[in-house]
Amino acid sequence: MKRVIIVGGGFAGLNAAKKLCRNPEIELTIIDRRNYHLFQPLLYQVAMAALNPAEIAQPIRSLFTGFRNVRVLQEEVIAVDRTAKEVQTLEGAYSYDYLILAVGVQHSYFGHEDWEEFAPGLKTLEQATEIRRRVLTAFERAEKTKNIQKQKQLLTFVIIGGGPTGVELAGAIGEMSRFTLAQDFNHIDPKLARVILIEAGPRILPSFSTKWASRVARDLEGIGVQVWTSSMVTDLDAEGVTVGEERVLCSTILWAAGVQAATLSQKLEVERDRQGRIIVAPDLSLPENPEIYICGDQSSFAHGVDQPLPGLAPIAMQQGRHAALNIQRTLKEQETLPFKYIDKGQMATIGRSRAIVEVGSLRLVGTFAWFLWLLIHIYYLLGFKNRFFVLIQWAWSYLSNSRGARLIVEKDWRFYKKKT
Ligand SMILES: Cc1cc2nc3c(=O)[nH]c(=O)nc-3n(C[C@H](O)[C@H](O)[C@H](O)COP(=O)(O)OP(=O)(O)OC[C@H]3O[C@@H](n4cnc5c(N)ncnc54)[C@H](O)[C@@H]3O)c2cc1C
Repeated sequence: MKRVIIVGGGFAGLNAAKKLCRNPEIELTIIDRRNYHLFQPLLYQVAMAALNPAEIAQPIRSLFTGFRNVRVLQEEVIAVDRTAKEVQTLEGAYSYDYLILAVGVQHSYFGHEDWEEFAPGLKTLEQATEIRRRVLTAFERAEKTKNIQKQKQLLTFVIIGGGPTGVELAGAIGEMSRFTLAQDFNHIDPKLARVILIEAGPRILPSFSTKWASRVARDLEGIGVQVWTSSMVTDLDAEGVTVGEERVLCSTILWAAGVQAATLSQKLEVERDRQGRIIVAPDLSLPENPEIYICGDQSSFAHGVDQPLPGLAPIAMQQGRHAALNIQRTLKEQETLPFKYIDKGQMATIGRSRAIVEVGSLRLVGTFAWFLWLLIHIYYLLGFKNRFFVLIQWAWSYLSNSRGARLIVEKDWRFYKKKT
Protein backbone atom coordinates (compact mmCIF):
# COMPACT_ATOMS: atom_id res chain seq x y z
CA MET A 1 0.00 0.00 0.00
CA LYS A 2 1.27 3.46 -0.87
CA ARG A 3 0.63 6.24 1.63
CA VAL A 4 -0.87 9.40 0.14
CA ILE A 5 -1.47 12.43 2.34
CA ILE A 6 -3.67 15.33 1.25
CA VAL A 7 -3.35 18.50 3.31
CA GLY A 8 -6.44 20.68 2.86
CA GLY A 9 -10.04 19.62 2.32
CA GLY A 10 -10.95 22.55 0.07
CA PHE A 11 -11.87 22.31 -3.59
CA ALA A 12 -8.47 20.99 -4.70
CA GLY A 13 -7.88 18.54 -1.85
CA LEU A 14 -11.38 17.13 -1.90
CA ASN A 15 -11.38 16.53 -5.64
CA ALA A 16 -8.05 14.73 -5.39
CA ALA A 17 -9.38 12.65 -2.50
CA LYS A 18 -12.55 11.65 -4.33
CA LYS A 19 -10.41 10.18 -7.11
CA LEU A 20 -7.84 8.46 -4.90
CA CYS A 21 -10.23 6.96 -2.34
CA ARG A 22 -11.41 4.40 -4.88
CA ASN A 23 -7.93 2.93 -5.32
CA PRO A 24 -7.51 0.02 -2.86
CA GLU A 25 -3.72 0.17 -3.26
CA ILE A 26 -3.69 3.58 -1.63
CA GLU A 27 -3.84 4.37 2.07
CA LEU A 28 -5.24 7.89 2.00
CA THR A 29 -5.01 10.44 4.83
CA ILE A 30 -6.84 13.75 4.51
CA ILE A 31 -5.74 16.39 7.01
CA ASP A 32 -7.55 19.69 7.49
CA ARG A 33 -7.55 22.12 10.39
CA ARG A 34 -11.34 22.25 10.09
CA ASN A 35 -13.65 19.25 10.13
CA TYR A 36 -15.64 20.52 7.14
CA HIS A 37 -15.32 21.45 3.51
CA LEU A 38 -16.38 25.05 2.95
CA PHE A 39 -18.04 26.28 -0.23
CA GLN A 40 -16.28 29.65 -0.24
CA PRO A 41 -18.10 31.14 -3.26
CA LEU A 42 -21.25 31.37 -1.10
CA LEU A 43 -19.53 32.76 1.99
CA TYR A 44 -20.71 36.28 1.31
CA GLN A 45 -24.29 35.00 1.43
CA VAL A 46 -23.61 33.96 5.05
CA ALA A 47 -21.93 37.29 5.77
CA MET A 48 -24.96 39.08 4.34
CA ALA A 49 -27.47 36.99 6.32
CA ALA A 50 -28.98 35.27 3.27
CA LEU A 51 -27.75 31.76 4.16
CA ASN A 52 -26.85 29.90 7.34
CA PRO A 53 -23.31 28.56 7.87
CA ALA A 54 -24.36 24.88 7.81
CA GLU A 55 -25.85 25.33 4.35
CA ILE A 56 -22.48 25.97 2.73
CA ALA A 57 -20.33 23.50 4.67
CA GLN A 58 -20.14 19.71 4.73
CA PRO A 59 -18.22 17.54 7.23
CA ILE A 60 -15.25 16.05 5.34
CA ARG A 61 -15.56 12.74 7.22
CA SER A 62 -19.14 12.28 5.99
CA LEU A 63 -17.93 12.34 2.38
CA PHE A 64 -15.76 9.25 2.85
CA THR A 65 -18.03 7.02 4.91
CA GLY A 66 -17.44 3.38 3.96
CA PHE A 67 -13.96 3.87 2.51
CA ARG A 68 -11.80 1.79 4.84
CA ASN A 69 -8.58 2.99 3.19
CA VAL A 70 -9.37 6.63 4.03
CA ARG A 71 -8.49 8.37 7.27
CA VAL A 72 -9.72 11.93 7.96
CA LEU A 73 -7.87 13.96 10.59
CA GLN A 74 -8.73 17.36 11.95
CA GLU A 75 -5.30 18.80 12.60
CA GLU A 76 -3.19 21.83 11.74
CA VAL A 77 -0.16 20.93 9.65
CA ILE A 78 2.76 23.07 10.78
CA ALA A 79 5.61 21.82 8.61
CA VAL A 80 6.61 19.46 5.82
CA ASP A 81 9.90 17.59 6.15
CA ARG A 82 10.69 16.83 2.52
CA THR A 83 13.78 14.77 3.37
CA ALA A 84 12.06 12.50 5.89
CA LYS A 85 8.85 12.57 3.78
CA GLU A 86 6.73 13.56 6.77
CA VAL A 87 4.11 16.15 7.53
CA GLN A 88 4.20 17.51 11.05
CA THR A 89 1.16 18.55 13.00
CA LEU A 90 0.83 19.92 16.52
CA GLU A 91 0.09 16.39 17.68
CA GLY A 92 2.56 14.25 15.74
CA ALA A 93 4.08 13.38 12.38
CA TYR A 94 2.69 11.38 9.44
CA SER A 95 4.80 9.72 6.74
CA TYR A 96 3.89 9.80 3.08
CA ASP A 97 4.99 8.34 -0.23
CA TYR A 98 3.05 11.02 -2.11
CA LEU A 99 1.84 14.34 -0.79
CA ILE A 100 -0.78 16.72 -2.17
CA LEU A 101 -0.58 20.17 -0.61
CA ALA A 102 -3.79 22.14 -1.13
CA VAL A 103 -3.94 24.65 1.71
CA GLY A 104 -5.25 27.65 -0.25
CA VAL A 105 -4.38 31.27 0.50
CA GLN A 106 -5.02 33.84 3.22
CA HIS A 107 -5.69 37.58 3.23
CA SER A 108 -2.86 40.01 2.73
CA TYR A 109 -2.97 43.44 4.33
CA PHE A 110 0.17 44.51 2.44
CA GLY A 111 2.23 44.93 5.59
CA HIS A 112 -0.58 46.52 7.66
CA GLU A 113 -1.49 43.44 9.70
CA ASP A 114 -3.02 45.70 12.40
CA TRP A 115 -5.81 46.63 9.92
CA GLU A 116 -7.32 43.14 10.11
CA GLU A 117 -9.02 43.90 13.45
CA PHE A 118 -10.96 46.82 11.90
CA ALA A 119 -11.42 45.41 8.40
CA PRO A 120 -12.02 41.65 8.45
CA GLY A 121 -11.64 39.69 5.24
CA LEU A 122 -13.94 36.93 4.07
CA LYS A 123 -12.38 33.49 3.85
CA THR A 124 -13.77 31.45 6.74
CA LEU A 125 -17.15 30.84 8.39
CA GLU A 126 -15.87 32.63 11.50
CA GLN A 127 -15.12 35.72 9.42
CA ALA A 128 -18.48 35.51 7.64
CA THR A 129 -20.43 35.39 10.91
CA GLU A 130 -18.27 38.20 12.33
CA ILE A 131 -19.01 40.37 9.28
CA ARG A 132 -22.71 39.56 9.63
CA ARG A 133 -22.50 40.56 13.31
CA ARG A 134 -20.79 43.87 12.51
CA VAL A 135 -23.18 44.82 9.69
CA LEU A 136 -26.36 43.93 11.60
CA THR A 137 -25.07 45.54 14.81
CA ALA A 138 -24.39 48.78 12.91
CA PHE A 139 -28.07 48.87 11.86
CA GLU A 140 -29.22 48.11 15.43
CA ARG A 141 -27.03 50.86 16.91
CA ALA A 142 -28.11 53.34 14.24
CA GLU A 143 -31.75 52.67 15.16
CA LYS A 144 -31.04 53.66 18.78
CA THR A 145 -28.93 56.77 18.38
CA LYS A 146 -30.43 60.24 18.15
CA ASN A 147 -27.19 61.78 16.96
CA ILE A 148 -27.49 62.20 13.18
CA GLN A 149 -23.70 62.33 12.65
CA LYS A 150 -23.27 59.09 14.59
CA GLN A 151 -26.14 57.51 12.68
CA LYS A 152 -24.48 58.51 9.41
CA GLN A 153 -21.21 56.95 10.53
CA LEU A 154 -22.93 53.75 11.63
CA LEU A 155 -24.70 53.51 8.30
CA THR A 156 -21.58 54.02 6.22
CA PHE A 157 -20.11 50.75 4.97
CA VAL A 158 -16.75 50.70 3.21
CA ILE A 159 -15.61 47.71 1.18
CA ILE A 160 -11.97 47.74 0.12
CA GLY A 161 -11.15 45.81 -3.06
CA GLY A 162 -13.13 45.83 -6.31
CA GLY A 163 -12.75 42.17 -7.32
CA PRO A 164 -15.74 39.76 -7.41
CA THR A 165 -15.92 39.42 -3.60
CA GLY A 166 -15.87 43.20 -3.03
CA VAL A 167 -18.51 43.73 -5.72
CA GLU A 168 -20.74 41.01 -4.27
CA LEU A 169 -20.45 42.36 -0.73
CA ALA A 170 -21.11 45.95 -1.81
CA GLY A 171 -24.14 44.94 -3.89
CA ALA A 172 -25.60 42.89 -1.03
CA ILE A 173 -25.15 45.67 1.57
CA GLY A 174 -26.54 48.20 -0.90
CA GLU A 175 -29.71 46.16 -1.36
CA MET A 176 -29.99 45.26 2.29
CA SER A 177 -29.89 48.89 3.41
CA ARG A 178 -32.27 50.07 0.71
CA PHE A 179 -34.95 47.38 0.94
CA THR A 180 -34.73 45.38 4.18
CA LEU A 181 -33.85 48.45 6.22
CA ALA A 182 -36.70 50.47 4.88
CA GLN A 183 -39.15 47.74 5.94
CA ASP A 184 -37.80 46.74 9.34
CA PHE A 185 -36.46 49.79 11.13
CA ASN A 186 -38.62 52.70 12.21
CA HIS A 187 -36.08 55.39 13.04
CA ILE A 188 -33.37 54.87 10.45
CA ASP A 189 -33.54 57.07 7.42
CA PRO A 190 -32.45 54.73 4.58
CA LYS A 191 -31.19 57.78 2.68
CA LEU A 192 -28.41 58.09 5.28
CA ALA A 193 -27.05 54.64 4.39
CA ARG A 194 -23.91 54.90 2.31
CA VAL A 195 -22.00 52.00 0.76
CA ILE A 196 -18.59 52.78 -0.76
CA LEU A 197 -16.59 50.29 -2.81
CA ILE A 198 -12.95 51.39 -2.97
CA GLU A 199 -10.57 50.03 -5.60
CA ALA A 200 -6.93 51.08 -5.99
CA GLY A 201 -6.82 50.18 -9.71
CA PRO A 202 -8.44 52.13 -12.53
CA ARG A 203 -11.55 49.90 -12.63
CA ILE A 204 -13.45 47.26 -10.71
CA LEU A 205 -13.50 43.58 -11.77
CA PRO A 206 -10.10 43.72 -13.54
CA SER A 207 -10.38 40.08 -14.64
CA PHE A 208 -13.64 40.79 -16.54
CA SER A 209 -13.93 42.70 -19.84
CA THR A 210 -13.91 46.51 -19.55
CA LYS A 211 -17.39 46.85 -21.06
CA TRP A 212 -19.06 44.53 -18.55
CA ALA A 213 -17.10 45.92 -15.61
CA SER A 214 -18.47 49.41 -16.45
CA ARG A 215 -21.95 47.97 -16.67
CA VAL A 216 -21.54 46.39 -13.22
CA ALA A 217 -20.32 49.74 -11.84
CA ARG A 218 -23.50 51.37 -13.19
CA ASP A 219 -25.67 48.58 -11.72
CA LEU A 220 -23.99 49.04 -8.34
CA GLU A 221 -24.60 52.77 -8.46
CA GLY A 222 -28.25 51.99 -9.25
CA ILE A 223 -28.58 50.26 -5.87
CA GLY A 224 -26.86 53.06 -4.02
CA VAL A 225 -23.23 51.90 -4.02
CA GLN A 226 -20.58 54.56 -4.66
CA VAL A 227 -17.72 53.11 -6.69
CA TRP A 228 -14.38 54.84 -6.09
CA THR A 229 -11.67 53.65 -8.47
CA SER A 230 -7.98 54.74 -8.57
CA SER A 231 -8.39 55.30 -4.82
CA MET A 232 -5.77 54.03 -2.43
CA VAL A 233 -6.60 53.44 1.23
CA THR A 234 -3.67 54.81 3.21
CA ASP A 235 -4.96 54.23 6.72
CA LEU A 236 -7.88 52.80 8.63
CA ASP A 237 -9.02 52.37 12.21
CA ALA A 238 -12.17 51.83 14.30
CA GLU A 239 -13.59 55.22 13.25
CA GLY A 240 -13.08 55.12 9.49
CA VAL A 241 -10.75 54.97 6.50
CA THR A 242 -8.37 57.48 4.95
CA VAL A 243 -8.24 57.59 1.18
CA GLY A 244 -5.48 59.95 0.07
CA GLU A 245 -6.44 63.29 1.65
CA GLU A 246 -10.02 62.26 2.39
CA ARG A 247 -11.25 60.82 5.66
CA VAL A 248 -14.46 58.73 5.55
CA LEU A 249 -16.09 58.12 8.91
CA CYS A 250 -17.65 54.66 9.04
CA SER A 251 -18.19 51.88 11.53
CA THR A 252 -17.99 48.88 9.20
CA ILE A 253 -14.99 48.24 6.95
CA LEU A 254 -14.63 45.02 4.99
CA TRP A 255 -11.44 43.82 3.33
CA ALA A 256 -11.50 42.16 -0.08
CA ALA A 257 -8.25 43.56 -1.42
CA GLY A 258 -5.54 40.96 -1.56
CA VAL A 259 -4.34 37.45 -0.76
CA GLN A 260 -1.05 35.79 0.03
CA ALA A 261 0.16 32.21 0.38
CA ALA A 262 -1.08 30.27 3.42
CA THR A 263 1.29 30.16 6.39
CA LEU A 264 2.23 26.52 5.75
CA SER A 265 3.24 27.10 2.13
CA GLN A 266 5.17 30.24 3.14
CA LYS A 267 7.39 27.98 5.28
CA LEU A 268 8.49 25.83 2.33
CA GLU A 269 11.79 26.93 0.83
CA VAL A 270 10.74 26.80 -2.82
CA GLU A 271 10.46 29.13 -5.81
CA ARG A 272 7.48 31.50 -5.70
CA ASP A 273 5.73 34.10 -7.83
CA ARG A 274 5.17 37.74 -6.81
CA GLN A 275 2.07 36.85 -4.77
CA GLY A 276 4.04 34.20 -2.88
CA ARG A 277 2.33 31.30 -4.63
CA ILE A 278 4.45 28.20 -5.24
CA ILE A 279 5.69 27.78 -8.82
CA VAL A 280 4.84 24.29 -10.02
CA ALA A 281 6.11 22.06 -12.86
CA PRO A 282 3.78 21.39 -15.83
CA ASP A 283 2.43 18.22 -14.13
CA LEU A 284 1.69 20.26 -10.92
CA SER A 285 4.52 18.68 -8.93
CA LEU A 286 7.19 20.56 -7.05
CA PRO A 287 10.16 20.73 -9.45
CA GLU A 288 12.64 19.40 -6.88
CA ASN A 289 10.23 16.84 -5.31
CA PRO A 290 8.20 14.93 -7.92
CA GLU A 291 6.33 13.08 -5.14
CA ILE A 292 4.81 16.38 -3.91
CA TYR A 293 1.94 18.04 -5.79
CA ILE A 294 0.83 21.63 -5.17
CA CYS A 295 -2.78 22.37 -6.15
CA GLY A 296 -5.40 25.08 -6.03
CA ASP A 297 -5.03 28.71 -4.98
CA GLN A 298 -1.58 28.23 -3.47
CA SER A 299 -0.03 27.04 -6.76
CA SER A 300 1.34 29.29 -9.48
CA PHE A 301 0.83 27.51 -12.80
CA ALA A 302 2.20 29.42 -15.80
CA HIS A 303 2.79 26.75 -18.47
CA GLY A 304 1.14 27.42 -21.85
CA VAL A 305 -0.92 30.35 -20.48
CA ASP A 306 -0.38 34.13 -20.77
CA GLN A 307 -0.37 34.69 -17.02
CA PRO A 308 -0.36 32.33 -14.00
CA LEU A 309 -3.85 30.88 -13.49
CA PRO A 310 -5.96 32.85 -10.98
CA GLY A 311 -7.45 31.53 -7.73
CA LEU A 312 -10.77 30.07 -8.82
CA ALA A 313 -12.74 27.04 -7.67
CA PRO A 314 -12.89 25.26 -11.09
CA ILE A 315 -9.09 25.55 -11.41
CA ALA A 316 -8.57 24.12 -7.92
CA MET A 317 -10.99 21.26 -8.67
CA GLN A 318 -9.33 20.39 -11.97
CA GLN A 319 -5.85 20.59 -10.43
CA GLY A 320 -6.85 18.32 -7.53
CA ARG A 321 -8.17 15.70 -9.95
CA HIS A 322 -5.09 16.03 -12.12
CA ALA A 323 -2.65 15.55 -9.23
CA ALA A 324 -4.58 12.42 -8.25
CA LEU A 325 -4.41 11.15 -11.83
CA ASN A 326 -0.64 11.68 -11.94
CA ILE A 327 -0.15 9.81 -8.68
CA GLN A 328 -2.19 6.90 -10.07
CA ARG A 329 -0.12 6.96 -13.27
CA THR A 330 3.15 6.92 -11.31
CA LEU A 331 1.92 3.91 -9.34
CA LYS A 332 1.36 2.13 -12.67
CA GLU A 333 4.86 3.22 -13.73
CA GLN A 334 3.46 5.54 -16.40
CA GLU A 335 4.74 9.04 -17.07
CA THR A 336 2.91 11.94 -15.47
CA LEU A 337 0.87 14.22 -17.76
CA PRO A 338 1.03 18.02 -17.96
CA PHE A 339 -1.97 19.89 -16.56
CA LYS A 340 -4.27 21.61 -19.08
CA TYR A 341 -6.92 23.97 -17.73
CA ILE A 342 -10.37 23.77 -19.29
CA ASP A 343 -11.66 27.33 -18.94
CA LYS A 344 -15.09 27.35 -17.29
CA GLY A 345 -15.34 31.16 -17.38
CA GLN A 346 -16.05 33.47 -14.46
CA MET A 347 -19.07 35.05 -12.83
CA ALA A 348 -20.09 37.50 -10.11
CA THR A 349 -23.42 38.67 -8.67
CA ILE A 350 -24.59 42.21 -8.17
CA GLY A 351 -27.26 42.26 -5.51
CA ARG A 352 -30.20 39.90 -5.32
CA SER A 353 -31.09 39.32 -8.94
CA ARG A 354 -28.33 40.48 -11.27
CA ALA A 355 -25.08 38.82 -12.27
CA ILE A 356 -22.35 38.91 -14.84
CA VAL A 357 -21.14 35.74 -16.58
CA GLU A 358 -18.22 35.45 -19.01
CA VAL A 359 -17.46 32.09 -20.63
CA GLY A 360 -15.13 32.43 -23.62
CA SER A 361 -16.84 34.82 -26.04
CA LEU A 362 -20.24 34.31 -24.34
CA ARG A 363 -21.11 37.31 -22.15
CA LEU A 364 -24.30 37.55 -20.12
CA VAL A 365 -25.46 40.20 -17.71
CA GLY A 366 -28.71 40.76 -15.80
CA THR A 367 -31.38 38.48 -14.36
CA PHE A 368 -30.82 35.54 -16.72
CA ALA A 369 -27.12 35.56 -15.79
CA TRP A 370 -28.16 35.58 -12.12
CA PHE A 371 -30.30 32.45 -12.59
CA LEU A 372 -27.38 30.76 -14.33
CA TRP A 373 -25.10 31.78 -11.45
CA LEU A 374 -27.64 30.41 -8.96
CA LEU A 375 -28.00 27.05 -10.73
CA ILE A 376 -24.25 26.55 -11.10
CA HIS A 377 -23.59 27.37 -7.45
CA ILE A 378 -26.32 25.06 -6.24
CA TYR A 379 -25.10 22.30 -8.57
CA TYR A 380 -21.58 22.47 -7.11
CA LEU A 381 -22.73 22.67 -3.47
CA LEU A 382 -21.98 19.43 -1.67
CA GLY A 383 -24.84 17.36 -0.28
CA PHE A 384 -28.45 17.04 -1.36
CA LYS A 385 -29.80 18.55 1.89
CA ASN A 386 -27.66 21.67 1.43
CA ARG A 387 -28.76 22.11 -2.18
CA PHE A 388 -32.41 21.69 -1.24
CA PHE A 389 -32.35 24.17 1.65
CA VAL A 390 -30.32 26.72 -0.26
CA LEU A 391 -32.76 26.62 -3.14
CA ILE A 392 -35.76 27.04 -0.81
CA GLN A 393 -34.03 29.82 1.14
CA TRP A 394 -33.18 31.66 -2.05
CA ALA A 395 -36.61 31.30 -3.56
CA TRP A 396 -38.07 32.74 -0.34
CA SER A 397 -35.70 35.67 -0.09
CA TYR A 398 -36.12 36.38 -3.81
CA LEU A 399 -39.90 36.52 -3.55
CA SER A 400 -40.13 38.22 -0.16
CA ASN A 401 -37.04 40.42 -0.37
CA SER A 402 -36.05 39.22 3.10
CA ARG A 403 -32.89 37.85 4.64
CA GLY A 404 -33.67 34.83 6.78
CA ALA A 405 -30.39 34.47 8.66
CA ARG A 406 -30.31 37.88 10.34
CA LEU A 407 -29.02 36.67 13.67
CA ILE A 408 -26.43 38.60 15.64
CA VAL A 409 -24.26 35.97 17.30
CA GLU A 410 -21.54 37.26 19.60
CA LYS A 411 -18.12 35.71 19.00
CA ASP A 412 -17.43 35.26 22.71
CA TRP A 413 -19.64 32.48 24.11
CA ARG A 414 -19.39 34.05 27.61
CA PHE A 415 -20.90 37.30 26.31
CA TYR A 416 -24.28 37.15 28.06
CA LYS A 417 -22.88 35.42 31.14
CA LYS A 418 -20.43 38.30 31.63
CA LYS A 419 -23.23 40.87 31.30
CA THR A 420 -25.59 39.30 33.84
C1 LIG B 1 -15.53 35.00 -0.49
C2 LIG B 1 -15.03 34.20 -1.66
C3 LIG B 1 -15.78 34.11 -2.82
C4 LIG B 1 -15.32 33.36 -3.89
N1 LIG B 1 -16.09 33.27 -5.02
C5 LIG B 1 -15.68 32.50 -6.03
C6 LIG B 1 -16.51 32.32 -7.19
O1 LIG B 1 -17.59 32.90 -7.28
N2 LIG B 1 -16.06 31.50 -8.18
C7 LIG B 1 -14.86 30.85 -8.09
O2 LIG B 1 -14.51 30.11 -9.01
N3 LIG B 1 -14.06 31.00 -7.02
C8 LIG B 1 -14.43 31.79 -5.99
N4 LIG B 1 -13.63 31.94 -4.89
C9 LIG B 1 -12.31 31.29 -4.89
C10 LIG B 1 -12.39 29.81 -4.52
O3 LIG B 1 -13.16 29.65 -3.36
C11 LIG B 1 -10.99 29.30 -4.35
O4 LIG B 1 -10.34 29.41 -5.59
C12 LIG B 1 -10.97 27.84 -3.88
O5 LIG B 1 -11.58 27.72 -2.63
C13 LIG B 1 -9.52 27.33 -3.81
O6 LIG B 1 -9.54 26.02 -3.39
P1 LIG B 1 -8.29 25.41 -2.60
O7 LIG B 1 -8.60 23.97 -2.41
O8 LIG B 1 -7.04 25.78 -3.27
O9 LIG B 1 -8.28 26.17 -1.21
P2 LIG B 1 -9.39 26.30 -0.08
O10 LIG B 1 -10.74 26.03 -0.63
O11 LIG B 1 -9.12 27.59 0.57
O12 LIG B 1 -9.06 25.11 0.92
C14 LIG B 1 -7.88 25.07 1.68
C15 LIG B 1 -8.10 24.11 2.84
O13 LIG B 1 -6.86 23.93 3.51
C16 LIG B 1 -7.08 23.95 4.90
N5 LIG B 1 -5.81 24.35 5.53
C17 LIG B 1 -5.13 25.51 5.34
N6 LIG B 1 -3.98 25.51 6.03
C18 LIG B 1 -3.94 24.33 6.69
C19 LIG B 1 -3.00 23.73 7.58
N7 LIG B 1 -1.86 24.33 7.91
N8 LIG B 1 -3.28 22.50 8.08
C20 LIG B 1 -4.43 21.86 7.76
N9 LIG B 1 -5.35 22.38 6.91
C21 LIG B 1 -5.10 23.59 6.38
C22 LIG B 1 -8.21 24.94 5.10
O14 LIG B 1 -8.88 24.71 6.33
C23 LIG B 1 -9.08 24.64 3.88
O15 LIG B 1 -10.06 23.66 4.15
C24 LIG B 1 -14.07 32.68 -3.79
C25 LIG B 1 -13.31 32.78 -2.62
C26 LIG B 1 -13.79 33.52 -1.56
C27 LIG B 1 -12.96 33.60 -0.29
